[in-house]
Amino acid sequence: MPLTLLNCDRSIPERKKHTYIKDSTEEVLPLCDIQTTPGDFTERGCTYAGCLGVVCGPIKDVIHLVHGPIGCSYWTWGGGTRQNLSDNPSFHRKYCFSTDMQEKNIIFGGEEKLYDSIIEAHEEFPEAKGVFVYATCAIGLIGDDIEAVCKQAEEEIGIKVVGFNCEGFRGCSQSLGHHIANDALFERVVGTKEPEYTTDYDMNIIGDYNIQGDLWLMEPLFERMGIRILSAFTGNSSIDDIAQAHRAKLNLMHCQRSTPYICEQIKEKYGIPYIRASLFGIEQTSNALRDVAAFFGLEEKAEEIIADEVSKVAPKIEEYREKFRGKRIFIYQGAPRAWHWVEMFREIGIETIAAATTFGHEEDYAKICERVKDGTIVIDNPNSIELEEILTELKPDIFISGLKEKYLAYKLGIPFINGHSYEKGPYAVYSGFLNFARDVEKSIFAPVWGMIRRRDAKRND
Ligand code: SF4
Repeated sequence: MPLTLLNCDRSIPERKKHTYIKDSTEEVLPLCDIQTTPGDFTERGCTYAGCLGVVCGPIKDVIHLVHGPIGCSYWTWGGGTRQNLSDNPSFHRKYCFSTDMQEKNIIFGGEEKLYDSIIEAHEEFPEAKGVFVYATCAIGLIGDDIEAVCKQAEEEIGIKVVGFNCEGFRGCSQSLGHHIANDALFERVVGTKEPEYTTDYDMNIIGDYNIQGDLWLMEPLFERMGIRILSAFTGNSSIDDIAQAHRAKLNLMHCQRSTPYICEQIKEKYGIPYIRASLFGIEQTSNALRDVAAFFGLEEKAEEIIADEVSKVAPKIEEYREKFRGKRIFIYQGAPRAWHWVEMFREIGIETIAAATTFGHEEDYAKICERVKDGTIVIDNPNSIELEEILTELKPDIFISGLKEKYLAYKLGIPFINGHSYEKGPYAVYSGFLNFARDVEKSIFAPVWGMIRRRDAKRND
């Protein structure tokens, strides 16, 4: 059977259904997008994390107010973790807003405190163009009606106050938080403002969060083609940009796990089609440009840009391919990046020998399985003990994951690269691909690994 039980999972045999060894003669998908098995020390984020941390957080000019105990706000402050860059750094991600619910608020209800907090935050930051309120677990349990409070506060302060019922315990992972964010933004924001003017070449990029400036590399490529980016959802976006997204001619869906919801809704209500694309690596970026060009009738221009960009990066990428020949990687990402990265690594000559996602759906695993060779481990929502077993057994030459797994890799003496918030990105499109390859090189060939190997060899003498 291609499903397998890792040694560390003998006490939770349910994990076998989540762990697949790719076998093209017996194709199955690992079980995914279901509640975590009790006893499995999952690394998943909660629904609130998906709503604020992924989709809404990059919006640069609203107050992101967390309604809950202060602990839920811990990672909302500062740009050091997620690194969604914006051109409004004196406000965006600089402050942490929380209702800081205390025991007596939990007992007697927090609606009054929420109302007062919205008013106070608005008074402190009158330049903010909206207030977004996020419900956490405690709020779901005590039953505060955040939508009623938001409505009342909106009437008082005269700017949009949007509530998100994204209590952490809802759903099985942060994935539901993406859906809740998309729904609320679609219902309360999209379509509430008209752009100053429109053109026949207006496009939205949906699902890019401007990690270390990815979006700032994407936009100029399309602009050279003659396309105007009307709204980026949500990297470096103003709430006004989201409000006018309904006037674009096309939606380019980049993160294909966190945004299909809004793309579908916009298509249904406003008749705007969308195309799925990956803007990572040479081949995927070129395909994306060609697809967009075909929609707008700009094929010739696109070919010119592709030829120009490829000529600038291809020789260096060829050098990296030579250098990385025979290297193997374990990829663990949120969801679609796992299959985007398989292609990125293939282009620089590195083979994927294990792949995993935290909150991937079947569609993500189908795409991973299409792209990897037989014998590759494909595991859903691995915990750190499983990661340790896979890393120790397979000994990949490099592991790509997020901050939580970085130190596990280092302790095991395995080169690591941060695929969530990057090492020294941006990593998107052509020039970002060079940054990506450079960071892979720096990690694999860092002198420290040689020192560790020599130390271990001495110890074994
Ligand atoms: S799981 Fe609940 S308590 Fe924990 S961070 Fe998420 S919302 Fe807050």
